Amino acid sequence: MSSLNHHFKISKLKDYLYVIMENISIIHPVYRNDPLNLYLLLGTHTALLMDTGCGLYPLKPIVDELIVDRKLLVFNTHYHWDHPLGNVEFGEVYIHESEVELVSKPYDVSYFKDSPNEIVKIYAEQDFLIPPAKIIKPLQDGNIFDLGEIEVKVIHCPGHSPGSICLLTNRGELFTSDVAYYGDIFLPNRDSFPLVLKSLSKLMKICEEQPDLELYPSHQIYPCDKNLLVDLYNGIRNIENLWESKKAFDFFEAWQVDDEKFRYYVAR
Ligand SMILES: [Zn+2]
Repeated sequence: MSSLNHHFKISKLKDYLYVIMENISIIHPVYRNDPLNLYLLLGTHTALLMDTGCGLYPLKPIVDELIVDRKLLVFNTHYHWDHPLGNVEFGEVYIHESEVELVSKPYDVSYFKDSPNEIVKIYAEQDFLIPPAKIIKPLQDGNIFDLGEIEVKVIHCPGHSPGSICLLTNRGELFTSDVAYYGDIFLPNRDSFPLVLKSLSKLMKICEEQPDLELYPSHQIYPCDKNLLVDLYNGIRNIENLWESKKAFDFFEAWQVDDEKFRYYVAR
């Protein structure tokens, strides 16, 4: 399977769950927080792909081979570039209603023009404007999708981006997207921290009700447990105390703050 394309690394995690990993540091060295995890859930009649990645190499043939004759649903967990750029390969993609517009037009990745890495030539061939999927459909908090023996519930968790979603299954998995992972954490400006913390609290509450949940983030290690949420919650609350140690990080137009567990980029 992995011979299909060296770029993607495919692992079977469960009978019904695959992860397709994509390294994003090959695009620009500022991304130390790779790999990106694209998850594929296989229900009895329908499959669900979470995110379409960076759009560098064909993803659909890999997905088609894994899902066999199931119907396919494609979700974007949010609009940030590393998650929707493969959308054009798929006819129809779902994203939270607040981000539909953002992925309905060509995606401008001109910030990679100065990348020292050769691979951005693939974007240059498209003038750094990556085309969207033909049809973008809206998701709302609480939507439930039946894949056949697997049910997936949409949980809106604004903060990392306005329309970030997490997905909860009836099989004990919580896909936390970029809302929570162990790596470099991108945050909106400091005024939005209460919203970020509120979304993390929402997930922590779900974990209290279902203590055995496995957490599958869109970057870095998986599965994690609820401690990821606790660590990130406490870390973000502590940023105020570390604020004097911040450094400017111009590529992201952000302030960089480090603690023992995370590096935070806080939008300026
Ligand atoms: Zn991401």
